[in-house]
Amino acid sequence: MSSRRGGTARDLYARAVAVMPGGVNSPVRAFRGVGGAPRFFVRGHGPFLVDTEAHELVDYVMSWGPLILGHAHPVVVERVSRVLGDGLSFGAATPGEVALAEAIIDTIPAVDMVRLVNSGTEASMSAIRLARGFTGRDRVVKFDGCYHGHVDSLLVAAGSGVATFGLPDSPGVPSALAELTHSLPYADLDAMDAHFDRLGAETACVIVETVAGNMGVVEPPESFLTRLRERCNESGALLVFDEVMTGLRVALGGAQERYQVYPDLTVMGKIIGGGMPLAAYGGRSDIMAHIAPAGPVYQAGTLSGNPVAVACGLATLEVLDSEPPYDLLEARSARLARGLHQACERHGVEHCINRVGAMLTLFFQAGPVTDYAAAKRSDTGRFASFFHAMLQRGVYLPPSQYEAWFPSVAHTDAVIDQTIEAADEALAACVKGGWPRP
Ligand SMILES: *Cc1c(COP(=O)(O)O)cnc(C)c1O
Repeated sequence: MSSRRGGTARDLYARAVAVMPGGVNSPVRAFRGVGGAPRFFVRGHGPFLVDTEAHELVDYVMSWGPLILGHAHPVVVERVSRVLGDGLSFGAATPGEVALAEAIIDTIPAVDMVRLVNSGTEASMSAIRLARGFTGRDRVVKFDGCYHGHVDSLLVAAGSGVATFGLPDSPGVPSALAELTHSLPYADLDAMDAHFDRLGAETACVIVETVAGNMGVVEPPESFLTRLRERCNESGALLVFDEVMTGLRVALGGAQERYQVYPDLTVMGKIIGGGMPLAAYGGRSDIMAHIAPAGPVYQAGTLSGNPVAVACGLATLEVLDSEPPYDLLEARSARLARGLHQACERHGVEHCINRVGAMLTLFFQAGPVTDYAAAKRSDTGRFASFFHAMLQRGVYLPPSQYEAWFPSVAHTDAVIDQTIEAADEALAACVKGGWPRP
C-alpha cells in the first residue's frame, strides 16, 4: 500500500482522478457545476472548514445539511468519543438504537414506528418498497427537480447533481422501472389532479420533498401539500414525505410540523445522524408492521443502527430538543438573505433568493423560482463566477446553483456579516470583470 501524503490540492486531485471516478465519492463535490479543481479538507470546527493548504473557509455546505450544530460540536464529539472504546459495531440489538428510535418518534409527528438505515437513499428506496408491498400497487409519483437519493425508481427528473450535470436520467435505470415512475411538475395542482384521475387507483405512493432543496430551495404553496394529502386519501396511495433535508431543520418536527400536513411515511436522514452515516424511515404502525421480520417486506443492513452513528444522532437530537435553535436560525438566515439581497441590488445583479428557515438559495435570475423549470432559467455561468469569487474571499458555498446553503447554529451574526461583506466584494468583482470563469 502506498503512503503518499501531503501535496497541494492540485496534486491530490490528480491522484484522486486516477483512482476514483471524477476524483470524488459523490458527484457534486467535483466542482463540475462551477469549474476548477475541488479543495481537499482536513478539519472542521464551528462554521469553518480548513483545507490542505491551511485556508480557513466559512462553510455553507455543512456536509450538505447534517451539521446544523456546526462542525465538531463539543457535546456531540464527547458522546461519540465515549462510545468508541466500547466497540464499533455489534450487528445486534443495542440500547442506544431503542433510545434513538424513541427520540425520533417523539420528535417527528407522523412517525409511530421507525427503521434505522445508513443513508437517505436507502431510506427512500425502502419506503418505496414498503409502499408497493403494503398497497400491492406498482406506480410511484414524484416531482420534477426533487431528489430522493440515487434510487433506480426515483432517478427521473431528479434535480441536485443530476441537474448540475444536465443529465436527463441515468443510464443503468431499466426503462421498465422508469415507466412506473411518474414525475410531475412541482406543486402543479392540475398535473396532480390529472394523474390521480387517470391512475390514482394504481398508484402505490407519492414521494415529495416537502420543501424542495435539490433544485435550489423552493417552498410550495400551502395548498399543494394539503391537496396531495386529500388525493392520496381518496385513492389509497400512501403519502411519503422526504424530510431528509427538512427534518429537524425547517422545524424540530420537520416540514410536517411546520405546515401541519401529515404523511403516511417519512424518510429521514442528514441531521438525525448528526454527520454520521445514519438515516431512517418510519410512519404509521400498521404500515411499518409490514417490514421484516414483523412482516413480509424485506429490508436489512449489516451496519444499520450502528452504535457510534446512533450516539452521534442521539446527541444531536438531544441538543436540538433541549435548546431549540430555530428562532435563532430563522433570524440569522433572514439576516444573511437580507444582506445578499442588498448586495445584489447595490451591484445591479438580477437575483431571486428563496429561503425557508435555515435553508436558502440565491438564484441568478429575476425569479420567481417556483419549480424545476423556473430554477433551470438561472444563469449558472454567473453562479460559477460568484462561487469562485466567494471562495477567494474565504466562503465555501455549495458548488452548484441547484443546491441549498445551510447556515448552522455556529454561524454567528459576525460570521454572517463577514459572508455578506464577502458577497458584496465578490459581486463587485464579478460585475467589473464581466463574470469571469476559472
Ligand atoms: C440528501 C438527500 C437524500 C439522499 O440522502 P443520502 O444520504 O445522500 O443518500 C434524499 N432526499 C433528500 C431530500 C436529500 O436532500
